[in-house]
Amino acid sequence: MSIIKKQKLIIAGPCSAESEKQVIQTALELKKNDTIDILRAGVWKPRTKPGGYEGSGENGLKWLKKAKEATGIPIATEVAKPHHVELAINHGVDVVWIGARTTANPFSVQEIADELKDSTLEVLIKNPINADINLWIGAYERIKLSGLKNIGLIHRGFTSFGNPDFRNAPFWQIPIEMKRLFPDIPMICDPSHIGGKRYRLEQIIQKSLNLDYDGLMIESHHDPDSALTDKEQQIKPEALNDLFERIQWRSKSIDKTEFSDKINLLREELKELDDELLSIFFARMKISNDIGKLKKENNLAILQTKYWDERLKYLMAIGKKNNLDEQFLKTVLETIHLESIRFQNDAKI
Ligand code: PEP
Ligand code: MN
Repeated sequence: MSIIKKQKLIIAGPCSAESEKQVIQTALELKKNDTIDILRAGVWKPRTKPGGYEGSGENGLKWLKKAKEATGIPIATEVAKPHHVELAINHGVDVVWIGARTTANPFSVQEIADELKDSTLEVLIKNPINADINLWIGAYERIKLSGLKNIGLIHRGFTSFGNPDFRNAPFWQIPIEMKRLFPDIPMICDPSHIGGKRYRLEQIIQKSLNLDYDGLMIESHHDPDSALTDKEQQIKPEALNDLFERIQWRSKSIDKTEFSDKINLLREELKELDDELLSIFFARMKISNDIGKLKKENNLAILQTKYWDERLKYLMAIGKKNNLDEQFLKTVLETIHLESIRFQNDAKI
């Protein structure tokens, strides 16, 4: 029976295993309310810069094993090298995860995949630090090719420069696309590394549950202020429990007919609007083609910056009035404009 394929899966535990006392105390506090399925702790910490706490290594695995014996909760840790996999197996680790920096490196993922062959470990693959869906897909495929059956994905956000709202920007469209490509693979949200601050956890968690995620991985420490890594995002087990009381899991499907009739009706409306959007695009590109011909005949540059700038400002102002997200509308309008330029470029006189 797979551990990670359980619905509403909860993984919690400290960012790093720091001492026997810290691991056991956190595990016992988490056990109190019986809300967690897997205890996590990193023992090899991938630090962006040298000089920070790099983890407790094999000792940490021993503490995790003791915590498992004391609570009966399966344990998970991060692996970044083949040797880590070997040690994890020797210490009774049930689930390993591949960290964001490792997923970004196909050489490392392949080495781990080779070492995982024939093991019974369950594996969770974090998204790569950069917003490249193909690296995530590639890592999944490499692990799958090693013959493992129990594989899941963790969404922990993506590096983005100067974003004040998140530690790692969620770019929800990437995990949504992964869910579309691999509908049967569990998608777990890691709100701790997305948010970077504990007060942001709830909103991120709720958003992921609204998007039908299968589980959560949350960093929890019995005394976050003393944590050696990621102290601002770790939450006390007790506070985690309060948080679980407030969030709302959504069901995957619904059998109430009245409700599903209503949803179906609204979906039909959306379908029609999508069709309409496409026909508007076709009509718009046809006009772009005609403009392209005229510009070519008259030797006029395709890009008319002043005109485009005025149109963009005008449309953005309307969008703002109607509560459309500024970044969303800008991306849509710029994409349409780029496609229009492509049509004008290709126009044949
Ligand atoms: C972690 O889970 O503590 C960790 C280092 O995560 P990530 O690979 O997402 O940075
Ligand atoms: Mn961490």
